[in-house]
Amino acid sequence: MSDWEPVLAEFDFDLFVIGAGSGGVRAARMAANAGMRVAVAEDRYMGGTCVNVGCVPKKLFVYASGYREEFEDAAAYGWRAGNAEFHWPTLRDNNAAEVGRLNGIYRNLLANAGVTVIDGRARFEAPQRIAVGDRSYSAERILVATGGWPFVPDIPGREHTISSNEVFSMPEFPQRILVVGGGYIAVEFAGIFAGLGAETHLSYRRELFLRGFDRDVRHFVRDEIGKKGVQLHFNQTIESIEKQEDGSLLVHAEGGATLAVDTVLYATGRRPNTRGLGLEELGVVTHRDGTISVDDNFRTNVDSIYALGDVTGEPQLTPVALAEAMALVGHLRTGKPAEIDYNNIPTAVFCQPNIGTVGLSEEEARDSGLAVTIYKADFKPMRHTVSGRDERTLMKLVVDSSTDKVIGAHMVGPEAGEIIQGIAVAIKAGATKAVFDQTVGIHPTSAEEFVTMR
Ligand code: FAD
Ligand code: NDP
Repeated sequence: MSDWEPVLAEFDFDLFVIGAGSGGVRAARMAANAGMRVAVAEDRYMGGTCVNVGCVPKKLFVYASGYREEFEDAAAYGWRAGNAEFHWPTLRDNNAAEVGRLNGIYRNLLANAGVTVIDGRARFEAPQRIAVGDRSYSAERILVATGGWPFVPDIPGREHTISSNEVFSMPEFPQRILVVGGGYIAVEFAGIFAGLGAETHLSYRRELFLRGFDRDVRHFVRDEIGKKGVQLHFNQTIESIEKQEDGSLLVHAEGGATLAVDTVLYATGRRPNTRGLGLEELGVVTHRDGTISVDDNFRTNVDSIYALGDVTGEPQLTPVALAEAMALVGHLRTGKPAEIDYNNIPTAVFCQPNIGTVGLSEEEARDSGLAVTIYKADFKPMRHTVSGRDERTLMKLVVDSSTDKVIGAHMVGPEAGEIIQGIAVAIKAGATKAVFDQTVGIHPTSAEEFVTMR
């Protein structure tokens, strides 16, 4: 049932969305379902970063890379798998086919909701007017959901590097790869390439990667990734990259160290994708890093223009863009304030083993003046008691000593994301450590440690 009453019929659309990514598609569909006349413009791929060059292909590649250890570990369980070999073109092409299937699903979802899909790059002509190619459209409201774009520092030889945009479709599998960066993408892809069998190096400019995560988690991941053969180069700044006659790349680091590899993957953050949109001409206010400044209802300083998702800054996660889209459409429908709680957003890093985390790290809790009690479990997962693999799991709870509330939960181990999603519900509901203690475990699992730590 529609509860949307168009106020001004003179516009082509009630809502024009720029960008059919996680946030844009959700906002367009929800708004159309509420009875608004909606258009969405997309210039590259339906579904945006997450579907095409982000979460989805990344997770498929993580699955692919995990098989090496599965084959090895199976032997201790009695399996003789023969000589397992990895074939890059099969993974690359099957991934492309799956992404293509998803593109079609997204286009159908929009069409079935009655959204007008316009292929092409959109730019503002006026606060309520958008051009795509040689067509011009008017809209009462315009939503900028254009996401982000990989940032690569301007160093000599930058043109020889790739980013996450290119990594899924490389013509050849690199036998030696250097991943530069110390955030989500860097540790995930270091794990992927090591698992797939490449000689893998990770270079990070400071002393320990994954800045912002709990310190125990960072140390634990450093050790586990190291055991899987990733060669870690901390406190290292890359100065230049030189292409050799044989096509390989010679990487020069500050201080004189060099490294020869086949591919250099930069994973040094993402910047808002606003080039050529025409925001400056309209006076739309942005932050110093170029992200668009919005109020609690996702409205910019220009009344008819809204923005959400990665283009407005952190946290840059698909479920956040989705939640913002739902909140915006709710606000447009009802006029009530958009309600988003940015506290306790759970997240997973699909390095190997995975990280799952929600709430405050121990350092954040202490820095905010809280007295905390820490509970930790560090153990060999049951599977590896027989396989013999030297891999450990970490679980950690941060508890506010004055209220007994669990204010942080952190895990490094298989399926950490799956486990932390459930713990996030408990933390959101304000569960105390006593409630965790009263909860009966599921045996034998790793997850049960979260309710048995004393
Ligand atoms: P996007 O999904 O980036 O969509 C923006 C869309 O706008 C794009 O399709 C773009 O082509 C289009 N566009 C831009 N400018 C214009 C224009 N002028 N005209 C028309 N169209 C335009 N998040 C997670 O939660 N979990 C993960 O596991 C995860 N893994 C990731 C892995 C990688 C390698 C990367 C890069 C990101 C990952 N993310 C993950 C982050 C997630 O992809 C983003 O947070 C999410 O896609 C943001 O959605 P969005 O709608 O803001 O932007
Ligand atoms: P991140 O912001 O996570 O990490 C960027 C890394 O690059 C940091 O280690 C940073 O170092 C380093 N860096 C930044 N600038 C430079 C520079 N000039 N030279 C050298 N190093 C530099 O970005 P990512 O690119 O890894 O990912 C982008 C975002 O996408 C993530 O923040 C996350 O929100 C999202 N994402 C989510 C995933 C998930 O949910 N599983 C997976 C992948 C991406 P420093 O620490 O010193 O600042």
